Amino acid sequence: MSHIFPRHTKVAPPKAMRGEGAYLFDETGKAYLDGSGGAAVSCLGHSDPDVLAAIHAQIDTLPFAHTGFFTSDAAEELADRLVQNAPDGLDRVYLVSGGSEAVEAALKLARQYMLETDQPERHRFIARRQSYHGNTLGALATGGNQWRRAPFEPLMVETSHIDPCYAYRLQTGGETNEAYGRRAADALEAEILRLGPETVIGFVAEPVVGATAGAVPPAPGYFKRIREICDKYGVLLILDEVMCGMGRTGTFFACEQDGISPDIVTIAKGLGAGYQPIGAMMCTQRIYAAIENGSGFFQHGHTYMGHPTACAAANVVVSKLTDGGLTQRAAQTGDDLRAALLDRFGQHPNVGDIRGRGLFLGLELVANRDTKVPFEPSLKLSARIKRAAFEAGLICYPMGGTIDGQRGDHVLLAPPFILTQDQ
Ligand code: PLP
Repeated sequence: MSHIFPRHTKVAPPKAMRGEGAYLFDETGKAYLDGSGGAAVSCLGHSDPDVLAAIHAQIDTLPFAHTGFFTSDAAEELADRLVQNAPDGLDRVYLVSGGSEAVEAALKLARQYMLETDQPERHRFIARRQSYHGNTLGALATGGNQWRRAPFEPLMVETSHIDPCYAYRLQTGGETNEAYGRRAADALEAEILRLGPETVIGFVAEPVVGATAGAVPPAPGYFKRIREICDKYGVLLILDEVMCGMGRTGTFFACEQDGISPDIVTIAKGLGAGYQPIGAMMCTQRIYAAIENGSGFFQHGHTYMGHPTACAAANVVVSKLTDGGLTQRAAQTGDDLRAALLDRFGQHPNVGDIRGRGLFLGLELVANRDTKVPFEPSLKLSARIKRAAFEAGLICYPMGGTIDGQRGDHVLLAPPFILTQDQ
């Protein structure tokens, strides 16, 4: 008997033995095409020799140095690379070990910024009903998925949730995409006014919604209007690009396509590409300066933050995604995959929507395409799809359930950017 404490205690997964390119292999030698990169992690596939060489070289020289005592070349190089490729104004990089850690750091930095700028009454966040920001308590509080939050509700950071920008279900007939984008964004202003602007720290959102919704992109103009509203009320805009960032949508940061720059952004997953656990929070110089000129100390930190070996891996990943052209390849392959999905499932009676950006694509599944009526939860559709795909040698990321009253079943596809046409 294994002493592992697994995620699911009633279903034993197969053992992964080896990874090569876009494939994983189990103990029987069966190959699985990694159609979701795990959970949108493995953007380079599973055996990139340059990342492996960089990890080996780093371990041979400096495997670890605690950031309470030292900085390192690998961490400084990574911060420079990220800033060079980030939207304007994101000048400071706080390196952590994963997505939830990055979100926690973002929430705490936002609160500390308010304290350091003499706005202590700002104590709450606004987020969206359709969102996932991680599983640690702060990140969980901002996430919109009610069943994930419910057992831990007494422990939550104060957050209110507004409607997402979800055209497939919330755009009304006759409303243009732009008009819908504006209406969806205006829900933020209404909520800020309801709560009292002087009490709100920040608005947290995924530019393209991942796990809870299946690659839902914003309507045109949505984030431009969100940016205006945040600026009007002194509310910080915190974008969570843990899943949709790092080239996945065809630009290095997803928000580039919306023509805005946040005050704080979080990244992870594709940053380490699965080779090392790493994440980052980036913020503007204005926020950094408030700490620098104030207490001089961000009251936060983790033992493994800025880990040199993880940074060494991420440096190669980022250079491949940017200078190496892999982000462009994700855009092109994404177009091809979307065309193939439309060709194959575009008229399918149970496929209501095919959406996404780049190699971040989602299919929304419905009982009736014309009425958009969802499937019954008792059908456990996502578990069945996951199992059937797995048996056929495909890893995809189906998800279902009620998202605050809006039921949705979807399949998320987020394959490695090295995917070939055949695959
Ligand atoms: N934010 C988003 C948008 C995510 O999709 C995830 C994970 O799926 C997280 C945060 C949490 O990241 P991690 O699982 O690395 O803690």
